[in-house]
Amino acid sequence: MTIRTHTCGALRKSDSGKTVVLQGWVARARDLGGLVFIDLRDRYGKTQVVVEPEQAAVIQIAHDLKSEWVIEVTGVVRARPDGMINADLPTGEVELVATGIEVLNRCPELPFQIESQDKASDELRLKYRYLDLRRTELQEVLILRHKVANIARNHFTEQGFIEVETPCLVKSTPEGARDYLVPSRVFPHQFYALPQSPQIYKQILMVAGFDKYFQICKCFRDEDLRSDRQPEFTQIDVEMSFATRDGVFAVVEELWVKILRDVWGVELPMPLKRLTYNECIEHYGSDKPDLRYDLRFENVTSHVQDTEFRVIRGALDDGGVVIGLRVPGQAELSRKQFGEVEELAKAAGLGGILPIKITAEGFSGVMSGKVDDAALAKIVQQLKGEVGDLLLLAVGKKSKVLKSLGVLRIKLAEHFKLFDPADHRKVSMFWVVDFPLFEKDEETGEVFPAHHPFTGFNPEDADRLDTEPWNVRSTSYDLVMNGNELLSGSIRIHDPILQAKIFKLLGISDEEAKLRFGFLVDALKFGAPPMGGFALGFDRMIMVLTNRPIRDVIAFPKTTLAQSLMDGSPSPVDLKLLSDLQIALAPASPQKG
Ligand code: ASP
Repeated sequence: MTIRTHTCGALRKSDSGKTVVLQGWVARARDLGGLVFIDLRDRYGKTQVVVEPEQAAVIQIAHDLKSEWVIEVTGVVRARPDGMINADLPTGEVELVATGIEVLNRCPELPFQIESQDKASDELRLKYRYLDLRRTELQEVLILRHKVANIARNHFTEQGFIEVETPCLVKSTPEGARDYLVPSRVFPHQFYALPQSPQIYKQILMVAGFDKYFQICKCFRDEDLRSDRQPEFTQIDVEMSFATRDGVFAVVEELWVKILRDVWGVELPMPLKRLTYNECIEHYGSDKPDLRYDLRFENVTSHVQDTEFRVIRGALDDGGVVIGLRVPGQAELSRKQFGEVEELAKAAGLGGILPIKITAEGFSGVMSGKVDDAALAKIVQQLKGEVGDLLLLAVGKKSKVLKSLGVLRIKLAEHFKLFDPADHRKVSMFWVVDFPLFEKDEETGEVFPAHHPFTGFNPEDADRLDTEPWNVRSTSYDLVMNGNELLSGSIRIHDPILQAKIFKLLGISDEEAKLRFGFLVDALKFGAPPMGGFALGFDRMIMVLTNRPIRDVIAFPKTTLAQSLMDGSPSPVDLKLLSDLQIALAPASPQKG
């Protein structure tokens, strides 16, 4: 082997006549008997190599080449004649006329073809991840991931932040999911946890005076996985001392301006809008609505309070509400098309949906003649309905209707193609603020923090803490882009007495608080500055930027059962290791899945 002079993406017409050395993988070899054409690939691109019959020794080797063999080609760059130019390849104006080929490695029959989008199953592709990762499109995603990480690193560094690594073997950290545990050998029957987030450590760094911290770090949560989650994931974790919410938002907004400018060439209008949590729930049925399309809903109950129309009357007598949403320009739906909308509504969890079609002649739909026109007119007015629009009303218990309409809203936007997922120019990014401080599990009655127990609250609501804690607004915030939550964070509690009070409200006893977070509470006593921060979900960011599923944006992803099909983990371990840890295995119960 010699040293390559160029990569497979480098040669141009201006290199014609040069003798060069390329190394890479055989993407394709076409043996035409007399001539052999080889597409040689590396991560920079592809170059066409031609082996001519005059090179007797070389063509002998070329006849044997198979896909994915690793070779080195020495040759002379030649401009391709006009008709032979391949405009799809940056190297398409040239070819390399081989004067020597050295086989650096061979490759057996492939489990699936890399070059063609063949039908290999996801399982097979994950097992041979290194082959799947040879595909240009996956390489491009990981290269973009690297680029975005760099933009973030540079951004925070320029703004005076310091990257500090926090430990991976930690005391269990409270982000609400199950911990991954690591047994201690030195202290038998004691465990570390893998961090669900560096939350406590970053707050302690503020107490230590680091002022502005960031870290691009791995976090671990042992949750039942959905297709868009991974048991280990990466976040850009940030904390700032003496920070106000506006100060935090400015740092994040500037970062996103840079990312969208560099990656998509899009200028993000600044500053970003802020919506309250209540506004999001009441009008979009979600705390992360996609606002690339409007489909905002309104509570129109007051207009039909006295109606005798059976469906509405029944719901209202049951303590329910009527919520409407406007679908622009769809008044002309046929019966069959409306049937499709009804199916979507059912799938979203609604019992049914009541249409009002606004036409030049007036309103039509099941309610006309049954609900008086003045009431219908008020509904239309509140929903800003215009001639040609279709209004949909849903009735039932408020929280259920809002949630279901939130799901229907997304389905309708897809059904009526109200946005183009591939259109990068259309970005909806905004902050959600004023989340409640606490949430309550409807079934168990258990109270838990809506964000985490170190989140502060709006001072205007302080006197409600003891009387109506449900109505206390927190200082947490989310950043939402195109229907995805990209970031969450908060201004923290830095007063140890207030922190103790919040633990108490959460039903965490003094002993438990001491046991679980004693070291943070202790640290807060030693002069903690006011602080705030956030975590940006890095994998999610790359998913949104590439419009790809999570497994495409992580080099070595796990399945939804948290398995790595490539390395076969999790797997049994040597019993000797377990005995060193003084761990004995109980009989296994059936695998969950
Ligand atoms: N620790 C939080 C999380 O991982 C983020 C934060 O509050 O900074 O979601």
